Amino acid sequence: MFENLQERLGSILNGLTGRGALSEADVSAALREVRRALLEADVALEVVRAFTDRVREKAVGAEILKSIKPGQMVVKIVHDELIDMLGTDGEGISLNAAAPVVIMMVGLQGSGKTTTSAKIAKRLTTRERKKVLMASLDTRRPAAQEQLRQLGVQTGVDTLPIIEGQSPVDIAARAVQAAKLGGHDVVILDTAGRTHIDEPLMVEMADIKKKSSPHEILLVADALTGQDAVNLARNFDERVGITGLVLTRMDGDGRGGAALSMRAVTGKPVKLIGVGEKMDELDEFHPRRIADRILGMGDIVSLVERAAENIDAEKAAAMAARMAKGKFDLNDMADQIRQMEKLGGMGGIMGMMPGMAGMKDKMSAAGLDDRIFKRQLAIISSMTKAERANPDILKHSRKKRIASGSGTDASDINKLLKMHRQMADMMKMMGGKKGGMMKQMMGG
Ligand code: GDP
Ligand code: MG
Repeated sequence: MFENLQERLGSILNGLTGRGALSEADVSAALREVRRALLEADVALEVVRAFTDRVREKAVGAEILKSIKPGQMVVKIVHDELIDMLGTDGEGISLNAAAPVVIMMVGLQGSGKTTTSAKIAKRLTTRERKKVLMASLDTRRPAAQEQLRQLGVQTGVDTLPIIEGQSPVDIAARAVQAAKLGGHDVVILDTAGRTHIDEPLMVEMADIKKKSSPHEILLVADALTGQDAVNLARNFDERVGITGLVLTRMDGDGRGGAALSMRAVTGKPVKLIGVGEKMDELDEFHPRRIADRILGMGDIVSLVERAAENIDAEKAAAMAARMAKGKFDLNDMADQIRQMEKLGGMGGIMGMMPGMAGMKDKMSAAGLDDRIFKRQLAIISSMTKAERANPDILKHSRKKRIASGSGTDASDINKLLKMHRQMADMMKMMGGKKGGMMKQMMGG
């Protein structure tokens, strides 16, 4: 088993009891362990370097949240950055082109191109009701075309009839032609691989691409690809131009660092992952899951997230205290609204203010529900700095300008200003007479 990054960092950083910001020394010590963890997860060296540089920049000087340790803070930053670098969630295959949409599968021999072709075909057929045609362009291995034909029979997807002696480029052209005649929505071209990248392979892929104008070119790679992942992805991307990545054998016990390597050097999304040999063992890509897997962790992240939530709650309470002292301009109001949204709307914030629990229903009955927050924020952000600080200067012409800037009308602005006045009064009264404050608010 891999050692958990958190355990490793524990001995280095968790002894530190000081609070405040992460120092250069804290971060450097932690990043040595992060580097080791990433290399163990098969992330390529140059990507590890680029990644740790990014984390260093973010982490040095970062505020350490209360109730967590410096090591945990670094892990959280590493985890967030990893998710960011891995890309967006569930970016699937694009079929956004004129039919027949051509999907070309490329990659080394044994990476899982043929299996993945059939998995994708099955998914598009059953989930999206597309009519799919698969064609094997692998004329190198004797049984390759027959392998795809059998997968077609198994999944109920059409395959292009095999004609001996045709070149891969000719088969590609025939497949597109057959799909047009057959009314297929999608054509999947399963190409031949090599055991390693070589010039003839790249030339062949480029020729097939030229002939078939694929909408998607998916590089299929084994999740266990180690340091080669960078070279592999860079070559295919530069020579053929890929639109996305598919990682296979994610069901194995590797940590899938190749996902990060290939994504980092190409900037192309991981679109799908293979999680077994069976035809339905194909999953959407979720950066968060892969990040957890690369770092070998899970609970630490939610722990830190809870700590971050507590900080938000503390901020909100501090704001309420400030307002109670009578300082409450439109900037404060905007902050307050944003905070309310973050804390789950009216209910969340009311629950935190003394004497205000249970007010939510009354407020929504008065038309003050979460929907108007959005409109109010739009109005406030259309104001100038001076207007926000001193709402009294808002006369007719200014209101007109703000209304058109925020897509509202003058009466919305008047409502906002009225609410602001009420809130300001209410906040002033919070210190002492709670009963008075409530009466004021409901009566006004
Ligand atoms: P190709 O040479 O790139 O066409 O690779 P194949 O599709 O023929 O796959 C090679 C082997 O890998 C086959 O035995 C597949 O069953 C297996 N394979 C493909 N994808 C996966 C996967 O996601 N998980 C596992 N465990 N095996 C896979
Ligand atoms: Mg194959």
